[in-house]
Amino acid sequence: MNSEVGINVPAKIGMPVSEIETPALIVELDVFERNLKKMRSIAEANGVLLRAHAKAHKSAGVAFRQMEIGGAHGFCCQKVSEATALVEAGIDDILISNQIVSRAKIERLVALSKRAKLRVCVDDPLNVCDLSSAAMAEGTVLECLVEIDVGAGRCGVTHGEEAAKLARLIADAPGLRFVGLQAYHGPVQHYVDAEKRNATFKDILKKVQETLVALVAEDLDCPIVSGAGTGTFRKEATSHVFTELQAGTYCFMDAAYMTLRDEHGGPEVPFENALFLLSTVMSAARAGAVVCDAGHKSVAVDSGLPKLVDVPGATYVSCNDEHGMVIDPNGHLSLKDQIRLIPGHCDPTCNLHDYLIGVRNGFVETVWPVTSRGKLW
Ligand code: PLP
Ligand code: MN
Repeated sequence: MNSEVGINVPAKIGMPVSEIETPALIVELDVFERNLKKMRSIAEANGVLLRAHAKAHKSAGVAFRQMEIGGAHGFCCQKVSEATALVEAGIDDILISNQIVSRAKIERLVALSKRAKLRVCVDDPLNVCDLSSAAMAEGTVLECLVEIDVGAGRCGVTHGEEAAKLARLIADAPGLRFVGLQAYHGPVQHYVDAEKRNATFKDILKKVQETLVALVAEDLDCPIVSGAGTGTFRKEATSHVFTELQAGTYCFMDAAYMTLRDEHGGPEVPFENALFLLSTVMSAARAGAVVCDAGHKSVAVDSGLPKLVDVPGATYVSCNDEHGMVIDPNGHLSLKDQIRLIPGHCDPTCNLHDYLIGVRNGFVETVWPVTSRGKLW
């Protein structure tokens, strides 16, 4: 691999943070490891498995740390190509927490299931037929979870009897095995208000429980109930209903998740920001403002602009492709200064970068490729 700093990679192991080529994503390893240990202790204390969502970072290096330090038993991926890259890097237990419907993708999914422990979500009888035919053709058995719509209005069959009927169809289909439910609600993860989150979660739980009753009526075992994100994971963990947590962002955190409040107005999510976009002031020509080298090409702004840390009074206020506008009324910032930004949304931000730079005490300790970067298929 050609590894010229500033051309192919933003940093080398051992280099001080001040020499990292910017813009670059850095991971404060002490914080990252604290996040991993916290999640591990909560999952273990409640007897639920952690199936961390790898779409947050798309990096095998991060995933291995989640297993070694963070107690992860497996991972989720959204895409077959994303999972393939991680399997090739040695990750061997993945739930595709999504529907895979095209013929070519299903064939790749089934082929991959012969190389790793792989499961997939289903919400349509037609998809059951397609998956069954592909698994039969390869002489293998594919484990399937029925995804139920627990109120988010995205994917998922209606909970209760309809879900149980689909589970029965899977159980009876040659080449498929029904192993459980996926019950994930995306929007509730980001409800800032604790009462709204609590009320929504009650409804999620009710829908899952009604589905479990309907599965009993179909005489089907349901060993897995998988769900949760960083915003609600403690509710799933303590529910006695969910068996797996799919949280992803928890390991890095982002500015959007930091806004969630608990019942007392404190922070809801018990993790710290470990992920920062390192940027450099590239123009200080105007009074009271500077321009940094981090814009749309290096940070996703779908969940809000990145938050500038460490510089009192300074704020990142807008961006272009390669420029970030920072107001600095107190005049703290000068040309060439390095600044740290907390991305608004970690998943799409990581997908913009080839590498994550692990740093500790001001030095680069590791450089992780973003293994599944751009794997959209
Ligand atoms: N599970 C599924 C199916 C998801 O789509 C997501 C994120 O969108 C997650 C889990 C994890 O969410 P987070 O990264 O917010 O913890
Ligand atoms: Mn996200």
